[in-house]
Amino acid sequence: MKAQVFYEVEKIILEEIPIPEVIDIDILVKIENVGICGSDITYYYGLSPVGTPMGKGPLFLGHEFSGEVVKVGKVPKSLDLFKEGYRVVVNPVQHCNSCYTCAAGQTHLCKKLSVPGVTTNGGFAEYCVSKYTGLFKLPDDTSYKKGAFTEPLTCAVNGMKKLDIEPGQFVTIFGAGPMGQMMVQMAKSIGAGKIALIGTRDYRQEIAKKMGQILYLIQKIKIPNTM
Ligand SMILES: [Zn+2]
Ligand SMILES: [Zn+2]
Repeated sequence: MKAQVFYEVEKIILEEIPIPEVIDIDILVKIENVGICGSDITYYYGLSPVGTPMGKGPLFLGHEFSGEVVKVGKVPKSLDLFKEGYRVVVNPVQHCNSCYTCAAGQTHLCKKLSVPGVTTNGGFAEYCVSKYTGLFKLPDDTSYKKGAFTEPLTCAVNGMKKLDIEPGQFVTIFGAGPMGQMMVQMAKSIGAGKIALIGTRDYRQEIAKKMGQILYLIQKIKIPNTM
């Protein structure tokens, strides 16, 4: 298969490598769509505050992906959970389900987290292995392209839940990238009043305008010098 192999900062090489093996709890996914997360970019440029978890590569980045199941490991097969041909989307934060924090329901704090594209090979390749517990079936009427937005959308939903927006409230969103665009749409659907979207790139703000969601677009903020 072809894979974009990350070796070190600013060095990713397209290579031909064997299709990965599938162990008992795994599922092999043929990648259809994969997003480029802000964290992929920080790994590439060496700007991530946590570094690249595996240190220097080789590693395939990419944790926001959708695709088709092409091989099912023994466990999900025996449980009849997945079949070849299923359309799936990945939850890249894959917990162990057997440690203390997992048992306490705080799976995001699992000490043995496995994250395709961060701790194991990810979706910047033709195929990717995932734990079966980290895959979800994509509804038939949802495209692979939309499916690949599931993970970033869940982050935006989580952020929005914390805000607890009241109907009619003025909402300001910093950042007009994909996450900001999703948050604008959610804020509007929750019933926010006026929304200000603050960003630095024209084309992104044009997208927001086209969706008809934005009342204010602010590009340059002058920070008053109070010193
Ligand atoms: Zn991400
Ligand atoms: Zn755990």
